Amino acid sequence: MFNVRFLLVGVLCCLISNTPGFAASPIKVITTTTVLKDLTQVVGGDQVQVEHLIKPFTDPHLVKLTPRDLLKIRNSDLFVKVGGDEEEWTFGAVESAGNPDLVVVDTSFRVNYLEVPTEEELRQAQGGTHLHKSGNPYYWLNPKNVPIMLDNIVKGLSWIRPDQKPQFVKNANAYIQQLNEWEKTWQSKVQPLQRYPMVAYHKTWAYLAHSFGLNIVAHIEPQPGISPSLAYWSRLLQTMKSQQVQLMLIEPYYVEKKAVQTLQAETGSQIVVLTISIGPAYQTQTYLDMMERNLRVIQDAVKQLEKNG
Ligand SMILES: [Zn+2]
Repeated sequence: MFNVRFLLVGVLCCLISNTPGFAASPIKVITTTTVLKDLTQVVGGDQVQVEHLIKPFTDPHLVKLTPRDLLKIRNSDLFVKVGGDEEEWTFGAVESAGNPDLVVVDTSFRVNYLEVPTEEELRQAQGGTHLHKSGNPYYWLNPKNVPIMLDNIVKGLSWIRPDQKPQFVKNANAYIQQLNEWEKTWQSKVQPLQRYPMVAYHKTWAYLAHSFGLNIVAHIEPQPGISPSLAYWSRLLQTMKSQQVQLMLIEPYYVEKKAVQTLQAETGSQIVVLTISIGPAYQTQTYLDMMERNLRVIQDAVKQLEKNG
């Protein structure tokens, strides 16, 4: 009897979901990053069911998908990606997943990339692989790019469910208002940071620096993905000493790198761990949390420097 009743309930649910006036099942979305998952949920609200592929706080250049990941892509309605060189692997993944109806959104569409390399810079990659051939891909670290990303997500979701477009637009606009308020607060806090020269491992923070006036004077990698030569290393040490660099902005997956540890030992610079994704390990659940935390930890490190004189 229980089974029959269960079956009847199941059939009834199917009938209801196909009846006009009743809520349709959520749009299944797969995103590459946790930040895109957050932003898609912002736009889609209860109309979306979102999963992500890249584990937070891992190197996005080194993603290896499992058959389970491909199955998730196959079973999704919408695939949302950062685009550019950050995720070259997505082209093969989408093809392998074999879902001809999958709608793909590249949130970088209409974003102005920073640091697009010249031919000379590509040649200087010393035969290695320059990881940012199309320009710096970490554009979401500039809050001014988020409305563009949200607009791209609105277009993708509206393509699948056109009748819900007004709600998606409304959700995106409400978030942009909130984001603008947050950004005003962030801008008011970061002023003193601009006086402090900093070094980073990878060219990850260009948009953050551009937005908040951080003074990044050098990178440990001469070009993205290229290890420093001895000559480059000694120039880097010289720069750090002459400019009295005391802060290194490092992603969680580069902290243990020998170059970072050696530089810390040789210069006494402090490692400040910043993130490009969100997750429990850094107590961040949203894009806003991530930005707030990144700026706060830089701020705390500067306060400590000032305290130490
Ligand atoms: Zn990169």
